[in-house]
Amino acid sequence: MNHSLFDVLIVGGGMAGASLAIALKESRLKIGLIEAKSLETDSQPSYDDRGIALSYGSQRIFETMGVWTHIVKHASPIQHIHVSERGRFGVTRLSAEQEKVPALGQVITAKYLGHALNQQLQQLDNLTLFCPRTVNAVVTEDEHVKVTLDNHHTLTAKLIVAADGRESTIRHCLNLSAWEQDYSQVAITANISTDKPHYGWAYERFTTSGPMALLPMTDKRSSLVWTVKAGEESALLSLPEEAFLKQLQHHFGYRAGRFIRVGERNSYPLILMQADMPVQARIVFIGNAAHSLHPIAGQGFNLGLRDVAVLAEHIFDAKDCGHAELLQRYQQQRQQDQDQVVKSTDQLVRLFSNDIPLLGHLRGAGLTLMDTMPVMKHWLAQKSMGLAQAQPKLARGVPLS
Ligand SMILES: Cc1cc2nc3c(=O)[nH]c(=O)nc-3n(C[C@H](O)[C@H](O)[C@H](O)COP(=O)(O)OP(=O)(O)OC[C@H]3O[C@@H](n4cnc5c(N)ncnc54)[C@H](O)[C@@H]3O)c2cc1C
Repeated sequence: MNHSLFDVLIVGGGMAGASLAIALKESRLKIGLIEAKSLETDSQPSYDDRGIALSYGSQRIFETMGVWTHIVKHASPIQHIHVSERGRFGVTRLSAEQEKVPALGQVITAKYLGHALNQQLQQLDNLTLFCPRTVNAVVTEDEHVKVTLDNHHTLTAKLIVAADGRESTIRHCLNLSAWEQDYSQVAITANISTDKPHYGWAYERFTTSGPMALLPMTDKRSSLVWTVKAGEESALLSLPEEAFLKQLQHHFGYRAGRFIRVGERNSYPLILMQADMPVQARIVFIGNAAHSLHPIAGQGFNLGLRDVAVLAEHIFDAKDCGHAELLQRYQQQRQQDQDQVVKSTDQLVRLFSNDIPLLGHLRGAGLTLMDTMPVMKHWLAQKSMGLAQAQPKLARGVPLS
């Protein structure tokens, strides 16, 4: 038996790669996962303190995969979403009750999501972990594809799944093109304590420098994503706690109460990326390696998890999981959702990140109008819950085995 021969090799064990390995746990596929960072440490940058809003659709995928019970312990439900613009009239409100769902989504710290996924990874019988290891090279042959690791070992598989993030090594090795858009914005994240409970409210607030989001978390805290123009972040990051909270309060207002404490602050440059050809001979790109979004609508990982659910469904029972037709069918099923979410997120950033007065009035009117139109609100809620597109088996509660 050749121990270096796999059905599927997943490159990158972040949220997308780890989720795919878990989704395939009951398949007959022999899987290898190569991850650059050790699973045992907190050094994994994808698994930091930022809050991740999981849509209702993502919750259902994790429920069917059997990992939701490990995630929900640390999650906070979103009962209401409040969308508004600073300094203007106009607001749209969504509620779980109106949508007849238990919650519009759930917020979990990336760190806890990482712990839950990593714990599961270590229990999978059909998985070999190469960790910490990096892939440095990839070569495609007719029937197989080969990767070389940093220890010079070569692994062979029928299919490589590149889940290695926005700066995908696999994409660079193959010299593949991607559409990139640098927003010249930076997201500052931090956990914030307020003087009143959040009652499950998530706030999306647009300001001229960029959007701000406040997501409900456990222990009466909220998770902040504050978008600022590139260059403005260093001053905010270095402010003492009290001065930072004062600035934040000034920009956000008092709708969520008084901000009284701030946890560790981090920053992320915001760059949109969409791979031009996410399917190659015996290679498929998923998650951030296929599309990396502005966090304005909290859709990045939710979109990636739908890649995972559809890909797992296609390869679960496949004789040759890297067959070109199978991969084309996968991409045909994913293309529309990927394009729509990438485009609508990009348009949202452009629409709200400017101070043209006429546009400001139109935005305010649009938010007010939306709030009075139940059909439009339902459409928006379905989109943010990840239920607007055809649902893969895992999202419908249908196990793959
Ligand atoms: C501020 C902020 C807020 C966000 N909020 C939300 C939200 O509310 N909801 C939501 O759905 N999404 C959100 N996102 C997006 C979400 O964080 C990403 O979509 C998600 O982390 C992408 O996961 P991934 O596994 O595809 O990629 P990554 O997290 O980038 O993981 C890639 C993995 O590949 C490994 N790797 C890289 N190169 C190699 C190599 N050569 N060999 C081996 N391993 C390699 C890395 O170590 C890493 O573990 C947010 C993002 C930001 C920045």
